[in-house]
Amino acid sequence: MRLVAYFLLLALLPLLGALWAFSEVAARGEVDRADARLNADLRVTVADFTRRVQDAEQSAASLARATGFHQALAAKNRGALSRLYREVPNAAFFSAGQLAAGTPPPALAVRRSARVVDQNRDTLGRVVVSVPLDNELVEELGSNPGLDADDALALVSGGRVVVGETGLEQARLPVERPGDIRIGNETFRALATRLAAGPGETTLVALTPKSAIDAQAEQLRRRILFLAAMALFAAAILTYSLGRMIVRSLKALSEAAGAIARGNFSSRVPVRGGDEFASLGRAFNHMASELEARIEELAAERTKTRDAIARFGETLSATHNPYVLLPVILESMVEATGAVGGTLVSEGEELARAGRPEAGGEPLKIPLGNDDQADNVLVLVPPEEGFGEDATHLVHWLTSQARTALENASLHRRLELEAVTDGLTELPNRRQFEESLATELTRVERLGGSLAIILADLDDFKHVNDRYGHLAGDDVIRAFADVLQDNVRGIDTAARYGGEEFAVLLPETGTEGAERVAERIRAAMAERAIETYPGAVVTVTASFGIAAYPGEPTQEALIAAADAALYRAKAAGKNKVVRAEAAAVRRTA
Ligand code: GH3
Ligand code: MG
Ligand code: MG
Repeated sequence: MRLVAYFLLLALLPLLGALWAFSEVAARGEVDRADARLNADLRVTVADFTRRVQDAEQSAASLARATGFHQALAAKNRGALSRLYREVPNAAFFSAGQLAAGTPPPALAVRRSARVVDQNRDTLGRVVVSVPLDNELVEELGSNPGLDADDALALVSGGRVVVGETGLEQARLPVERPGDIRIGNETFRALATRLAAGPGETTLVALTPKSAIDAQAEQLRRRILFLAAMALFAAAILTYSLGRMIVRSLKALSEAAGAIARGNFSSRVPVRGGDEFASLGRAFNHMASELEARIEELAAERTKTRDAIARFGETLSATHNPYVLLPVILESMVEATGAVGGTLVSEGEELARAGRPEAGGEPLKIPLGNDDQADNVLVLVPPEEGFGEDATHLVHWLTSQARTALENASLHRRLELEAVTDGLTELPNRRQFEESLATELTRVERLGGSLAIILADLDDFKHVNDRYGHLAGDDVIRAFADVLQDNVRGIDTAARYGGEEFAVLLPETGTEGAERVAERIRAAMAERAIETYPGAVVTVTASFGIAAYPGEPTQEALIAAADAALYRAKAAGKNKVVRAEAAAVRRTA
Protein backbone atom coordinates (compact mmCIF):
# COMPACT_ATOMS: atom_id res chain seq x y z
CA MET A 1 0.00 0.00 0.00
CA ARG A 2 2.93 2.29 0.71
CA LEU A 3 4.08 1.70 -2.84
CA VAL A 4 0.73 2.83 -4.19
CA ALA A 5 0.98 5.96 -2.07
CA TYR A 6 4.43 6.70 -3.47
CA PHE A 7 3.09 6.20 -6.95
CA LEU A 8 0.23 8.57 -6.36
CA LEU A 9 2.59 11.16 -4.92
CA LEU A 10 4.92 10.77 -7.88
CA ALA A 11 2.10 11.26 -10.34
CA LEU A 12 0.33 14.05 -8.47
CA LEU A 13 3.21 16.31 -7.51
CA PRO A 14 4.23 17.23 -11.08
CA LEU A 15 0.60 17.62 -12.01
CA LEU A 16 0.03 20.08 -9.16
CA GLY A 17 3.18 21.97 -10.16
CA ALA A 18 1.99 22.16 -13.73
CA LEU A 19 -1.39 23.34 -12.55
CA TRP A 20 0.10 26.15 -10.53
CA ALA A 21 2.31 27.23 -13.44
CA PHE A 22 -0.66 27.11 -15.79
CA SER A 23 -2.84 29.28 -13.66
CA GLU A 24 0.01 31.77 -13.26
CA VAL A 25 0.48 31.94 -17.00
CA ALA A 26 -3.27 32.20 -17.51
CA ALA A 27 -3.53 35.14 -15.11
CA ARG A 28 -0.62 36.90 -16.75
CA GLY A 29 -2.10 36.18 -20.16
CA GLU A 30 -5.29 37.82 -19.08
CA VAL A 31 -3.39 41.00 -18.05
CA ASP A 32 -1.46 40.92 -21.32
CA ARG A 33 -4.69 40.67 -23.21
CA ALA A 34 -6.09 43.66 -21.33
CA ASP A 35 -2.88 45.59 -22.04
CA ALA A 36 -3.04 44.87 -25.73
CA ARG A 37 -6.66 45.98 -25.74
CA LEU A 38 -5.84 49.23 -23.95
CA ASN A 39 -3.11 49.84 -26.49
CA ALA A 40 -5.53 49.32 -29.34
CA ASP A 41 -8.15 51.49 -27.63
CA LEU A 42 -5.69 54.32 -27.42
CA ARG A 43 -4.55 53.98 -30.99
CA VAL A 44 -8.13 54.02 -32.30
CA THR A 45 -9.06 56.93 -30.09
CA VAL A 46 -6.00 58.99 -30.97
CA ALA A 47 -6.63 58.39 -34.66
CA ASP A 48 -10.27 59.42 -34.19
CA PHE A 49 -9.23 62.48 -32.27
CA THR A 50 -6.57 63.45 -34.85
CA ARG A 51 -9.17 63.20 -37.59
CA ARG A 52 -11.51 65.46 -35.65
CA VAL A 53 -8.71 67.98 -35.30
CA GLN A 54 -7.98 67.74 -39.02
CA ASP A 55 -11.67 68.14 -39.74
CA ALA A 56 -11.67 71.26 -37.59
CA GLU A 57 -8.69 72.57 -39.52
CA GLN A 58 -10.40 71.91 -42.85
CA SER A 59 -13.66 73.40 -41.67
CA ALA A 60 -11.81 76.56 -40.59
CA ALA A 61 -10.00 76.75 -43.91
CA SER A 62 -13.07 76.20 -46.05
CA LEU A 63 -15.12 78.64 -43.99
CA ALA A 64 -12.39 81.21 -44.32
CA ARG A 65 -12.57 80.84 -48.06
CA ALA A 66 -16.36 80.50 -48.39
CA THR A 67 -17.91 83.20 -50.59
CA GLY A 68 -21.08 83.22 -48.51
CA PHE A 69 -19.03 83.94 -45.49
CA HIS A 70 -17.22 86.77 -47.20
CA GLN A 71 -20.50 88.29 -48.44
CA ALA A 72 -22.04 87.95 -44.97
CA LEU A 73 -18.98 89.54 -43.47
CA ALA A 74 -19.03 92.36 -45.97
CA ALA A 75 -22.72 92.92 -45.48
CA LYS A 76 -22.31 92.50 -41.74
CA ASN A 77 -25.27 90.21 -42.13
CA ARG A 78 -25.48 88.62 -38.67
CA GLY A 79 -28.29 86.30 -39.68
CA ALA A 80 -26.34 84.82 -42.53
CA LEU A 81 -23.25 84.49 -40.33
CA SER A 82 -25.24 82.70 -37.63
CA ARG A 83 -26.51 80.27 -40.23
CA LEU A 84 -23.02 79.58 -41.37
CA TYR A 85 -21.88 79.01 -37.80
CA ARG A 86 -24.66 76.66 -37.26
CA GLU A 87 -23.40 74.67 -40.21
CA VAL A 88 -19.90 74.62 -38.84
CA PRO A 89 -20.09 73.83 -35.13
CA ASN A 90 -17.66 75.37 -32.72
CA ALA A 91 -16.63 78.00 -35.18
CA ALA A 92 -15.88 81.59 -34.27
CA PHE A 93 -14.70 84.60 -36.17
CA PHE A 94 -12.20 86.91 -34.63
CA SER A 95 -11.57 90.30 -36.03
CA ALA A 96 -8.68 92.27 -34.71
CA GLY A 97 -8.48 89.87 -31.79
CA GLN A 98 -12.14 90.40 -30.87
CA LEU A 99 -14.84 87.75 -31.24
CA ALA A 100 -16.88 89.11 -34.04
CA ALA A 101 -19.24 86.23 -34.64
CA GLY A 102 -19.97 82.65 -33.53
CA THR A 103 -19.57 81.07 -30.17
CA PRO A 104 -16.51 81.74 -28.10
CA PRO A 105 -14.34 78.63 -28.05
CA PRO A 106 -14.30 76.80 -24.68
CA ALA A 107 -11.21 77.16 -22.56
CA LEU A 108 -10.33 73.48 -22.89
CA ALA A 109 -10.30 72.80 -26.57
CA VAL A 110 -8.08 72.18 -29.52
CA ARG A 111 -8.34 75.10 -31.87
CA ARG A 112 -7.64 75.35 -35.56
CA SER A 113 -7.81 78.70 -37.30
CA ALA A 114 -7.67 80.08 -40.80
CA ARG A 115 -6.98 83.57 -41.97
CA VAL A 116 -9.81 85.41 -43.77
CA VAL A 117 -8.54 87.75 -46.45
CA ASP A 118 -10.31 90.01 -48.93
CA GLN A 119 -9.61 90.43 -52.63
CA ASN A 120 -6.73 92.69 -51.84
CA ARG A 121 -5.20 90.08 -49.58
CA ASP A 122 -5.88 92.25 -46.56
CA THR A 123 -6.60 90.32 -43.41
CA LEU A 124 -10.17 90.57 -42.27
CA GLY A 125 -9.80 88.33 -39.28
CA ARG A 126 -9.52 84.65 -38.34
CA VAL A 127 -11.93 81.80 -38.37
CA VAL A 128 -11.40 79.53 -35.39
CA VAL A 129 -12.90 76.02 -35.26
CA SER A 130 -12.32 74.26 -31.99
CA VAL A 131 -12.59 70.69 -30.84
CA PRO A 132 -13.68 71.05 -27.23
CA LEU A 133 -12.04 68.69 -24.83
CA ASP A 134 -15.18 67.81 -22.97
CA ASN A 135 -17.49 65.07 -21.91
CA GLU A 136 -19.18 64.99 -25.23
CA LEU A 137 -15.90 64.47 -27.07
CA VAL A 138 -14.88 61.66 -24.78
CA GLU A 139 -18.28 60.06 -25.16
CA GLU A 140 -18.04 60.20 -28.90
CA LEU A 141 -14.52 58.87 -28.92
CA GLY A 142 -15.67 56.18 -26.53
CA SER A 143 -18.46 55.11 -28.83
CA ASN A 144 -15.99 54.17 -31.56
CA PRO A 145 -16.78 50.60 -32.53
CA GLY A 146 -13.02 49.83 -32.36
CA LEU A 147 -13.17 50.37 -28.66
CA ASP A 148 -13.92 47.69 -26.13
CA ALA A 149 -17.11 48.28 -24.24
CA ASP A 150 -15.55 47.40 -20.91
CA ASP A 151 -12.84 49.98 -21.21
CA ALA A 152 -13.22 53.60 -20.26
CA LEU A 153 -11.50 56.68 -21.57
CA ALA A 154 -10.35 59.62 -19.49
CA LEU A 155 -8.91 62.95 -20.39
CA VAL A 156 -6.48 64.78 -18.22
CA SER A 157 -5.37 68.23 -19.17
CA GLY A 158 -3.08 70.55 -17.31
CA GLY A 159 -3.24 68.36 -14.25
CA ARG A 160 -7.01 68.44 -14.24
CA VAL A 161 -9.30 65.55 -14.97
CA VAL A 162 -11.51 66.73 -17.74
CA VAL A 163 -13.43 63.54 -18.13
CA GLY A 164 -13.19 60.35 -16.09
CA GLU A 165 -12.48 59.16 -12.60
CA THR A 166 -11.54 61.84 -10.14
CA GLY A 167 -8.23 60.95 -8.63
CA LEU A 168 -6.55 60.31 -11.94
CA GLU A 169 -4.66 63.56 -11.53
CA GLN A 170 -2.90 62.16 -8.51
CA ALA A 171 -1.93 58.97 -10.22
CA ARG A 172 1.34 58.62 -12.03
CA LEU A 173 -0.10 57.79 -15.38
CA PRO A 174 1.69 55.01 -17.20
CA VAL A 175 2.78 56.19 -20.62
CA GLU A 176 3.85 53.84 -23.45
CA ARG A 177 3.60 50.77 -21.22
CA PRO A 178 0.44 49.83 -19.38
CA GLY A 179 0.50 49.82 -15.61
CA ASP A 180 -1.62 49.54 -12.50
CA ILE A 181 -3.00 52.61 -10.86
CA ARG A 182 -5.03 52.97 -7.73
CA ILE A 183 -7.90 55.37 -7.55
CA GLY A 184 -9.58 55.39 -4.20
CA ASN A 185 -10.24 51.75 -3.35
CA GLU A 186 -10.19 50.54 -6.88
CA THR A 187 -7.28 49.39 -9.00
CA PHE A 188 -7.23 49.93 -12.74
CA ARG A 189 -5.08 48.77 -15.54
CA ALA A 190 -4.29 51.93 -17.47
CA LEU A 191 -2.36 53.25 -20.44
CA ALA A 192 -1.95 56.92 -21.27
CA THR A 193 -0.75 58.90 -24.25
CA ARG A 194 -0.06 62.54 -24.75
CA LEU A 195 -2.23 64.17 -27.34
CA ALA A 196 0.12 65.92 -29.74
CA ALA A 197 -2.68 68.10 -31.02
CA GLY A 198 -3.91 68.99 -27.56
CA PRO A 199 -3.16 72.02 -25.54
CA GLY A 200 -0.08 71.62 -23.36
CA GLU A 201 -0.25 68.61 -21.07
CA THR A 202 -3.26 66.83 -22.45
CA THR A 203 -3.25 63.16 -21.81
CA LEU A 204 -5.68 60.56 -23.04
CA VAL A 205 -6.06 57.60 -20.70
CA ALA A 206 -7.59 54.24 -21.51
CA LEU A 207 -8.37 52.21 -18.44
CA THR A 208 -10.14 49.12 -17.40
CA PRO A 209 -10.92 47.96 -13.89
CA LYS A 210 -8.48 45.42 -12.61
CA SER A 211 -11.33 43.52 -11.04
CA ALA A 212 -12.63 42.62 -14.52
CA ILE A 213 -9.22 41.25 -15.51
CA ASP A 214 -9.02 39.37 -12.25
CA ALA A 215 -12.49 38.00 -12.79
CA GLN A 216 -11.48 36.82 -16.26
CA ALA A 217 -8.30 35.28 -14.89
CA GLU A 218 -10.27 33.70 -12.09
CA GLN A 219 -12.71 32.23 -14.52
CA LEU A 220 -9.89 30.87 -16.62
CA ARG A 221 -8.14 29.54 -13.54
CA ARG A 222 -11.32 27.84 -12.49
CA ARG A 223 -11.65 26.23 -15.87
CA ILE A 224 -8.05 25.04 -15.70
CA LEU A 225 -8.68 23.87 -12.20
CA PHE A 226 -11.64 21.85 -13.34
CA LEU A 227 -9.70 20.29 -16.20
CA ALA A 228 -6.80 19.66 -13.85
CA ALA A 229 -9.10 18.03 -11.37
CA MET A 230 -10.39 15.77 -14.12
CA ALA A 231 -6.83 14.95 -15.19
CA LEU A 232 -5.89 14.44 -11.58
CA PHE A 233 -8.75 12.08 -11.09
CA ALA A 234 -7.82 10.11 -14.20
CA ALA A 235 -4.17 10.07 -13.16
CA ALA A 236 -5.11 8.95 -9.68
CA ILE A 237 -7.21 6.10 -11.02
CA LEU A 238 -4.49 5.15 -13.49
CA THR A 239 -1.80 5.37 -10.86
CA TYR A 240 -3.85 3.47 -8.37
CA SER A 241 -4.60 0.63 -10.77
CA LEU A 242 -0.99 0.61 -11.99
CA GLY A 243 0.21 0.58 -8.40
CA ARG A 244 -2.25 -2.16 -7.54
CA MET A 245 -1.02 -4.19 -10.48
CA ILE A 246 2.61 -3.73 -9.44
CA VAL A 247 1.80 -4.50 -5.84
CA ARG A 248 -0.12 -7.58 -6.93
CA SER A 249 2.82 -8.72 -9.07
CA LEU A 250 5.23 -8.13 -6.21
CA LYS A 251 2.89 -9.90 -3.82
CA ALA A 252 2.66 -12.90 -6.13
CA LEU A 253 6.45 -12.93 -6.37
CA SER A 254 6.95 -12.66 -2.65
CA GLU A 255 4.33 -15.34 -1.98
CA ALA A 256 5.98 -17.69 -4.44
CA ALA A 257 9.38 -16.96 -2.93
CA GLY A 258 7.91 -17.63 0.53
CA ALA A 259 6.46 -20.92 -0.69
CA ILE A 260 9.84 -21.93 -2.06
CA ALA A 261 11.46 -20.97 1.22
CA ARG A 262 8.97 -23.29 2.96
CA GLY A 263 9.99 -26.10 0.61
CA ASN A 264 7.18 -25.95 -1.94
CA PHE A 265 9.33 -25.90 -5.03
CA SER A 266 6.46 -26.33 -7.45
CA SER A 267 5.29 -22.79 -6.72
CA ARG A 268 5.27 -20.45 -9.77
CA VAL A 269 4.18 -16.88 -10.47
CA PRO A 270 1.73 -16.09 -13.29
CA VAL A 271 3.49 -14.38 -16.21
CA ARG A 272 1.46 -12.01 -18.42
CA GLY A 273 2.64 -9.77 -21.22
CA GLY A 274 6.18 -8.71 -21.96
CA ASP A 275 6.99 -6.01 -19.43
CA GLU A 276 9.71 -6.00 -16.80
CA PHE A 277 7.43 -7.76 -14.33
CA ALA A 278 6.81 -10.50 -16.84
CA SER A 279 10.53 -10.98 -17.40
CA LEU A 280 11.13 -10.87 -13.65
CA GLY A 281 8.39 -13.49 -13.26
CA ARG A 282 9.91 -15.60 -16.00
CA ALA A 283 13.34 -15.37 -14.38
CA PHE A 284 11.78 -16.32 -11.05
CA ASN A 285 9.94 -19.29 -12.55
CA HIS A 286 13.10 -20.40 -14.27
CA MET A 287 14.96 -20.24 -10.97
CA ALA A 288 12.17 -22.18 -9.27
CA SER A 289 12.21 -24.95 -11.89
CA GLU A 290 15.98 -25.17 -11.66
CA LEU A 291 15.68 -25.44 -7.89
CA GLU A 292 12.92 -27.99 -8.18
CA ALA A 293 14.93 -30.09 -10.61
CA ARG A 294 17.99 -29.86 -8.40
CA ILE A 295 16.01 -30.82 -5.29
CA GLU A 296 14.41 -33.73 -7.14
CA GLU A 297 17.84 -34.79 -8.32
CA LEU A 298 19.12 -34.60 -4.76
CA ALA A 299 16.14 -36.56 -3.49
CA ALA A 300 16.64 -39.18 -6.19
CA GLU A 301 20.32 -39.37 -5.29
CA ARG A 302 19.43 -39.71 -1.64
CA THR A 303 16.91 -42.43 -2.44
CA LYS A 304 19.51 -44.18 -4.53
CA THR A 305 22.03 -43.96 -1.71
CA ARG A 306 19.46 -45.15 0.81
CA ASP A 307 18.45 -48.04 -1.44
CA ALA A 308 22.06 -48.96 -2.01
CA ILE A 309 22.76 -48.90 1.71
CA ALA A 310 19.59 -50.88 2.42
CA ARG A 311 20.54 -53.48 -0.18
CA PHE A 312 24.01 -53.53 1.27
CA GLY A 313 22.63 -54.14 4.76
CA GLU A 314 20.19 -56.78 3.53
CA THR A 315 22.93 -58.65 1.76
CA LEU A 316 25.24 -58.42 4.74
CA SER A 317 22.62 -59.95 6.98
CA ALA A 318 21.31 -62.42 4.40
CA THR A 319 24.48 -64.21 3.47
CA HIS A 320 27.80 -65.18 4.94
CA ASN A 321 29.27 -66.19 1.68
CA PRO A 322 32.13 -63.78 0.88
CA TYR A 323 31.79 -64.48 -2.83
CA VAL A 324 28.22 -63.27 -2.76
CA LEU A 325 29.05 -60.42 -0.37
CA LEU A 326 31.96 -58.91 -2.23
CA PRO A 327 30.19 -58.01 -5.53
CA VAL A 328 27.26 -56.55 -3.60
CA ILE A 329 29.63 -54.52 -1.45
CA LEU A 330 31.22 -53.21 -4.64
CA GLU A 331 27.93 -52.34 -6.34
CA SER A 332 26.47 -50.70 -3.26
CA MET A 333 29.58 -48.63 -2.74
CA VAL A 334 29.63 -47.43 -6.33
CA GLU A 335 25.96 -46.52 -6.18
CA ALA A 336 25.95 -44.95 -2.74
CA THR A 337 29.06 -42.85 -3.17
CA GLY A 338 28.36 -41.68 -6.72
CA ALA A 339 31.54 -43.30 -8.00
CA VAL A 340 31.68 -43.74 -11.77
CA GLY A 341 32.75 -47.33 -11.32
CA GLY A 342 34.75 -49.81 -9.36
CA THR A 343 36.39 -53.21 -9.43
CA LEU A 344 37.06 -55.90 -6.90
CA VAL A 345 40.50 -57.39 -7.21
CA SER A 346 41.52 -60.55 -5.42
CA GLU A 347 45.10 -61.70 -5.70
CA GLY A 348 45.60 -59.52 -8.73
CA GLU A 349 42.53 -60.94 -10.46
CA GLU A 350 39.38 -58.97 -11.11
CA LEU A 351 36.46 -60.71 -9.39
CA ALA A 352 33.75 -58.17 -10.06
CA ARG A 353 33.16 -54.78 -11.64
CA ALA A 354 30.48 -52.10 -11.49
CA GLY A 355 29.85 -48.91 -13.48
CA ARG A 356 32.63 -47.72 -15.77
CA PRO A 357 35.89 -47.99 -13.83
CA GLU A 358 37.90 -46.86 -16.89
CA ALA A 359 36.52 -43.30 -16.66
CA GLY A 360 36.73 -40.80 -13.84
CA GLY A 361 39.44 -39.55 -11.54
CA GLU A 362 42.24 -41.06 -9.49
CA PRO A 363 41.07 -44.52 -8.28
CA LEU A 364 40.75 -45.13 -4.57
CA LYS A 365 42.16 -48.50 -3.44
CA ILE A 366 40.52 -49.89 -0.34
CA PRO A 367 41.93 -53.10 1.13
CA LEU A 368 39.10 -55.21 2.54
CA GLY A 369 41.66 -57.24 4.43
CA ASN A 370 41.00 -59.62 7.18
CA ASP A 371 42.73 -62.93 7.59
CA ASP A 372 40.85 -64.71 4.86
CA GLN A 373 40.55 -61.88 2.36
CA ALA A 374 44.02 -60.44 2.80
CA ASP A 375 44.31 -59.84 -0.91
CA ASN A 376 40.87 -58.42 -1.59
CA VAL A 377 41.15 -54.84 -2.77
CA LEU A 378 38.18 -52.72 -3.69
CA VAL A 379 39.03 -50.10 -6.30
CA LEU A 380 36.61 -47.18 -6.40
CA VAL A 381 36.82 -44.69 -9.26
CA PRO A 382 35.50 -41.27 -8.21
CA PRO A 383 33.95 -38.78 -10.63
CA GLU A 384 36.35 -36.30 -12.32
CA GLU A 385 35.99 -33.80 -9.48
CA GLY A 386 36.73 -36.47 -6.86
CA PHE A 387 34.61 -37.58 -3.94
CA GLY A 388 32.91 -34.93 -1.85
CA GLU A 389 33.14 -34.90 1.92
CA ASP A 390 29.89 -36.86 2.33
CA ALA A 391 30.90 -39.49 -0.18
CA THR A 392 34.29 -39.91 1.51
CA HIS A 393 32.59 -40.43 4.86
CA LEU A 394 30.25 -42.90 3.24
CA VAL A 395 33.17 -44.78 1.67
CA HIS A 396 34.85 -45.10 5.05
CA TRP A 397 31.70 -46.16 6.79
CA LEU A 398 30.78 -48.71 4.13
CA THR A 399 34.34 -50.03 4.12
CA SER A 400 34.29 -50.64 7.84
CA GLN A 401 30.85 -52.28 7.53
CA ALA A 402 32.12 -54.43 4.71
CA ARG A 403 35.21 -55.43 6.69
CA THR A 404 33.13 -56.40 9.67
CA ALA A 405 30.75 -58.32 7.45
CA LEU A 406 33.60 -60.21 5.80
CA GLU A 407 35.13 -61.00 9.17
CA ASN A 408 31.78 -62.25 10.41
CA ALA A 409 31.40 -64.29 7.26
CA SER A 410 34.71 -66.06 7.72
CA LEU A 411 34.03 -66.59 11.40
CA HIS A 412 30.63 -67.94 10.55
CA ARG A 413 32.08 -70.24 7.97
CA ARG A 414 34.59 -71.55 10.48
CA LEU A 415 31.90 -72.14 13.06
CA GLU A 416 29.71 -73.80 10.51
CA LEU A 417 32.54 -76.04 9.45
CA GLU A 418 33.36 -76.79 13.05
CA ALA A 419 29.79 -77.74 13.71
CA VAL A 420 29.89 -80.45 11.09
CA THR A 421 33.54 -81.44 11.32
CA ASP A 422 35.32 -83.63 13.75
CA GLY A 423 38.20 -81.79 15.30
CA LEU A 424 40.53 -84.77 15.64
CA THR A 425 40.28 -86.28 12.19
CA GLU A 426 38.80 -83.35 10.29
CA LEU A 427 36.28 -85.81 8.90
CA PRO A 428 32.62 -84.85 8.85
CA ASN A 429 31.01 -85.68 12.18
CA ARG A 430 28.00 -87.86 12.91
CA ARG A 431 25.55 -85.01 12.41
CA GLN A 432 26.99 -84.23 9.01
CA PHE A 433 26.94 -87.91 8.13
CA GLU A 434 23.29 -88.25 9.12
CA GLU A 435 22.37 -85.15 7.14
CA SER A 436 24.19 -86.38 4.09
CA LEU A 437 22.55 -89.77 4.46
CA ALA A 438 19.11 -88.17 4.76
CA THR A 439 19.73 -86.03 1.68
CA GLU A 440 21.00 -88.96 -0.32
CA LEU A 441 18.06 -91.12 0.80
CA THR A 442 15.58 -88.49 -0.31
CA ARG A 443 17.31 -88.35 -3.64
CA VAL A 444 17.25 -92.12 -4.28
CA GLU A 445 13.68 -92.36 -3.03
CA ARG A 446 12.66 -89.81 -5.62
CA LEU A 447 14.92 -90.74 -8.49
CA GLY A 448 15.55 -94.38 -7.76
CA GLY A 449 18.98 -96.03 -7.49
CA SER A 450 20.81 -97.39 -4.53
CA LEU A 451 23.10 -96.41 -1.69
CA ALA A 452 25.05 -98.26 0.95
CA ILE A 453 26.56 -97.48 4.30
CA ILE A 454 29.46 -98.99 6.19
CA LEU A 455 29.79 -98.80 9.96
CA ALA A 456 33.28 -99.52 11.31
CA ASP A 457 34.64 -99.97 14.86
CA LEU A 458 38.27 -100.34 15.84
CA ASP A 459 39.03 -103.68 17.43
CA ASP A 460 40.20 -103.81 21.00
CA PHE A 461 40.88 -100.17 21.03
CA LYS A 462 40.76 -100.02 24.78
CA HIS A 463 44.03 -101.93 24.84
CA VAL A 464 45.74 -99.29 22.71
CA ASN A 465 44.62 -96.63 25.13
CA ASP A 466 45.52 -98.69 28.08
CA ARG A 467 48.88 -99.65 26.76
CA TYR A 468 50.18 -96.63 24.90
CA GLY A 469 48.08 -93.90 26.33
CA HIS A 470 45.26 -91.80 25.10
CA LEU A 471 47.40 -89.71 22.72
CA ALA A 472 48.57 -92.83 20.99
CA GLY A 473 44.90 -93.82 20.73
CA ASP A 474 44.25 -90.50 19.02
CA ASP A 475 47.03 -91.25 16.51
CA VAL A 476 45.38 -94.56 15.72
CA ILE A 477 42.02 -92.85 15.21
CA ARG A 478 43.66 -90.33 12.84
CA ALA A 479 45.40 -93.15 10.98
CA PHE A 480 42.11 -94.97 10.44
CA ALA A 481 40.61 -91.69 9.17
CA ASP A 482 43.46 -91.48 6.62
CA VAL A 483 42.85 -95.04 5.54
CA LEU A 484 39.17 -94.30 5.09
CA GLN A 485 39.88 -91.17 3.05
CA ASP A 486 42.37 -93.05 0.88
CA ASN A 487 39.87 -95.75 0.03
CA VAL A 488 36.64 -93.93 -0.76
CA ARG A 489 35.55 -91.92 -3.81
CA GLY A 490 35.04 -88.20 -3.93
CA ILE A 491 31.27 -88.61 -3.81
CA ASP A 492 31.48 -90.85 -0.75
CA THR A 493 31.30 -89.45 2.76
CA ALA A 494 33.60 -90.94 5.36
CA ALA A 495 32.67 -89.64 8.80
CA ARG A 496 33.69 -90.11 12.39
CA TYR A 497 30.54 -91.55 13.88
CA GLY A 498 31.74 -91.21 17.47
CA GLY A 499 34.63 -92.45 19.63
CA GLU A 500 36.48 -95.04 17.56
CA GLU A 501 33.47 -95.75 15.36
CA PHE A 502 33.26 -94.55 11.75
CA ALA A 503 30.65 -94.47 9.03
CA VAL A 504 30.90 -94.29 5.24
CA LEU A 505 28.07 -93.21 2.91
CA LEU A 506 28.39 -94.65 -0.56
CA PRO A 507 25.90 -93.21 -3.06
CA GLU A 508 25.05 -95.24 -6.17
CA THR A 509 26.42 -98.34 -4.49
CA GLY A 510 24.91 -101.70 -3.67
CA THR A 511 25.81 -104.21 -0.97
CA GLU A 512 28.50 -105.88 -3.02
CA GLY A 513 30.18 -102.64 -3.91
CA ALA A 514 30.12 -101.55 -0.30
CA GLU A 515 31.50 -104.86 0.79
CA ARG A 516 34.39 -104.46 -1.64
CA VAL A 517 35.17 -101.00 -0.31
CA ALA A 518 34.95 -102.23 3.33
CA GLU A 519 37.17 -105.11 2.54
CA ARG A 520 39.72 -102.79 0.94
CA ILE A 521 39.66 -100.57 4.03
CA ARG A 522 39.86 -103.46 6.39
CA ALA A 523 42.90 -104.89 4.59
CA ALA A 524 44.65 -101.51 4.36
CA MET A 525 44.14 -100.86 8.09
CA ALA A 526 45.27 -104.34 9.08
CA GLU A 527 48.48 -103.84 7.11
CA ARG A 528 49.19 -100.42 8.43
CA ALA A 529 51.93 -99.95 10.96
CA ILE A 530 50.93 -96.88 12.89
CA GLU A 531 53.53 -94.73 14.50
CA THR A 532 52.11 -93.43 17.70
CA TYR A 533 53.15 -91.08 20.35
CA PRO A 534 55.49 -91.49 22.22
CA GLY A 535 57.16 -93.76 19.61
CA ALA A 536 55.47 -97.14 19.59
CA VAL A 537 54.39 -98.66 16.30
CA VAL A 538 51.09 -100.42 16.49
CA THR A 539 48.76 -102.30 14.22
CA VAL A 540 45.06 -102.06 14.82
CA THR A 541 42.29 -103.82 12.92
CA ALA A 542 38.67 -102.85 12.52
CA SER A 543 35.34 -104.59 12.05
CA PHE A 544 32.72 -103.52 9.44
CA GLY A 545 28.98 -103.80 9.09
CA ILE A 546 27.27 -103.08 5.77
CA ALA A 547 23.68 -102.18 4.89
CA ALA A 548 22.13 -100.91 1.67
CA TYR A 549 19.02 -99.21 0.27
CA PRO A 550 16.52 -100.28 -0.98
CA GLY A 551 17.05 -103.46 1.12
CA GLU A 552 16.80 -101.27 4.18
CA PRO A 553 14.17 -98.69 3.27
CA THR A 554 14.74 -96.03 5.99
CA GLN A 555 17.63 -94.25 7.61
CA GLU A 556 16.95 -95.90 10.97
CA ALA A 557 16.69 -99.31 9.38
CA LEU A 558 19.91 -98.79 7.47
CA ILE A 559 21.86 -97.79 10.56
CA ALA A 560 20.33 -100.47 12.71
CA ALA A 561 21.09 -103.11 10.11
CA ALA A 562 24.67 -101.95 9.64
CA ASP A 563 25.12 -101.79 13.40
CA ALA A 564 23.79 -105.34 13.76
CA ALA A 565 26.14 -106.54 11.04
CA LEU A 566 29.04 -104.85 12.81
CA TYR A 567 28.03 -106.56 16.00
CA ARG A 568 28.07 -109.84 14.21
CA ALA A 569 31.51 -109.10 12.77
CA LYS A 570 32.81 -108.48 16.28
CA ALA A 571 31.17 -111.63 17.46
CA ALA A 572 32.70 -113.56 14.63
CA GLY A 573 36.18 -112.64 15.77
CA LYS A 574 36.71 -109.04 14.63
CA ASN A 575 38.75 -107.74 11.63
CA LYS A 576 35.83 -108.81 9.44
CA VAL A 577 33.32 -107.35 7.01
CA VAL A 578 29.74 -108.50 7.54
CA ARG A 579 26.73 -107.49 5.44
CA ALA A 580 23.32 -107.02 6.95
CA GLU A 581 20.99 -109.95 6.88
CA ALA A 582 17.97 -109.70 4.67
CA ALA A 583 15.02 -108.32 6.62
CA ALA A 584 13.08 -111.54 6.18
CA VAL A 585 16.00 -113.52 7.58
CA ARG A 586 16.24 -111.13 10.54
CA ARG A 587 12.60 -111.51 11.35
CA THR A 588 12.76 -115.31 11.42
CA ALA A 589 15.98 -115.38 13.41
P1 GH3 B 1 35.83 -104.08 20.70
O1 GH3 B 1 36.78 -104.78 19.90
O2 GH3 B 1 34.74 -104.87 21.25
O3 GH3 B 1 35.28 -102.83 20.06
O4 GH3 B 1 36.63 -103.58 21.96
P2 GH3 B 1 37.05 -102.23 22.32
O5 GH3 B 1 38.13 -102.16 23.23
O6 GH3 B 1 37.30 -101.35 21.09
O7 GH3 B 1 35.74 -101.72 23.06
P3 GH3 B 1 34.90 -100.44 22.86
O8 GH3 B 1 34.59 -100.20 21.42
O9 GH3 B 1 33.73 -100.50 23.77
O10 GH3 B 1 35.84 -99.35 23.40
C1 GH3 B 1 35.89 -98.03 22.97
C2 GH3 B 1 36.99 -97.30 23.63
O11 GH3 B 1 37.56 -96.28 22.83
C3 GH3 B 1 36.51 -96.65 24.85
C4 GH3 B 1 37.17 -95.29 24.86
O12 GH3 B 1 38.00 -95.09 25.99
C5 GH3 B 1 37.99 -95.27 23.66
N1 GH3 B 1 37.90 -94.05 23.02
C6 GH3 B 1 36.71 -93.56 22.55
N2 GH3 B 1 36.98 -92.33 21.91
C7 GH3 B 1 38.36 -92.13 22.01
C8 GH3 B 1 39.24 -91.11 21.55
O13 GH3 B 1 38.82 -90.11 20.94
N3 GH3 B 1 40.58 -91.25 21.79
C9 GH3 B 1 41.09 -92.31 22.47
N4 GH3 B 1 42.36 -92.37 22.67
N5 GH3 B 1 40.25 -93.26 22.93
C10 GH3 B 1 38.93 -93.21 22.69
MG1 MG C 1 33.50 -99.00 20.04
MG1 MG D 1 36.13 -101.03 19.52
